[in-house]
Amino acid sequence: MSVRTVKQAIKKFNKFLITSHINPEGDSIGSQIAMASLLKRMGKEAIMLDDSPVPQVMRFLSGSEEIFKEMPNNFNFQAAIILDCPDMARTGRVSGYIKKETAIINIDHHISNVNFGKFNWVDPETSSAGEMVYDLFKAFKVKVNIEEAAALYTAIMTDTGSFRYSNTSSKTHRIIAELIESGIRPHEIHTKIYETSSVQDTNLLGEALQTMKLTDDGKIGWLWVTKEMLKKTKASLEGTEGIINFARSIDGVEIAILFRETGTEDRVKVSFRSKGKVDVNKLAGVFGGGGHPTASGCSVFGKPEDVEKKVLEQAKRALQ
Ligand code: 5GP
Ligand code: MN
Repeated sequence: MSVRTVKQAIKKFNKFLITSHINPEGDSIGSQIAMASLLKRMGKEAIMLDDSPVPQVMRFLSGSEEIFKEMPNNFNFQAAIILDCPDMARTGRVSGYIKKETAIINIDHHISNVNFGKFNWVDPETSSAGEMVYDLFKAFKVKVNIEEAAALYTAIMTDTGSFRYSNTSSKTHRIIAELIESGIRPHEIHTKIYETSSVQDTNLLGEALQTMKLTDDGKIGWLWVTKEMLKKTKASLEGTEGIINFARSIDGVEIAILFRETGTEDRVKVSFRSKGKVDVNKLAGVFGGGGHPTASGCSVFGKPEDVEKKVLEQAKRALQ
């Protein structure tokens, strides 16, 4: 299915629920805000509801304050637009509000997307859900305003690693040019998102870097964020975003892995990044996760040392 199918689907309904995945990042937040705004400008009703709070660094975005954490009473939506989300379970608590009769409109760029909607527009070639929402503005012939442009810029900038990753195309840059013409200041958005970390988060980075190890052939690099480190540095979990890139940035590393102890249970959040030779979407899939060929993740239950052993074994296998 394409943007046209989704356009036709949207025309049929008047009340929408918009959501994305748990622990949202720039693409999920930005694409939701722009989507909600587009629908409202077309005279439709739309609310945004997410499982997890908006990350601190994205709260500058106009519209982010409208993302609900709990379902408002008496909002009987006909359709749910689910953005940047490969399956229903990744919406977390929000899936509990989706009824059998709800028309699910699935808009995503994850290769691991399972086409869980009534209407599915899944394009793994696209950099971000933000780019897809931009295509919807074009399809409806609605000119992006400055608030929507800031949201879409955030979505596309964060998912392309500031336009460095292989998912960045000439189309991405053309879209960005148009967004800038609507009046946003890219350097201000960049500063808000990437230059507002705390000294605690920077101390945590220092601790995590100390744990970096490489396999003998230098092709796998991994590092840890442990409960103890979080306690010692008083850093936030949000502050661990980006740490994995230090492992990928080492010459010769093909697979970077970040292990994070996030909660009290015996569960480790594992993130993978690849330089392109290894499909880490498949690697995360071994543990029930997914994502993209060069960026993926999963949660693995077990003691930290056991999780590390299991994951490294599979990573070595993926390299062969
Ligand atoms: P990150 O490592 O930054 O958390 O996530 C990288 C990519 O992998 C994102 O596209 C994200 O959606 C996906 N991802 C991360 N964790 C999981 C997971 O537990 N399950 C699935 N299906 N995808 C994940
Ligand atoms: Mn995305």
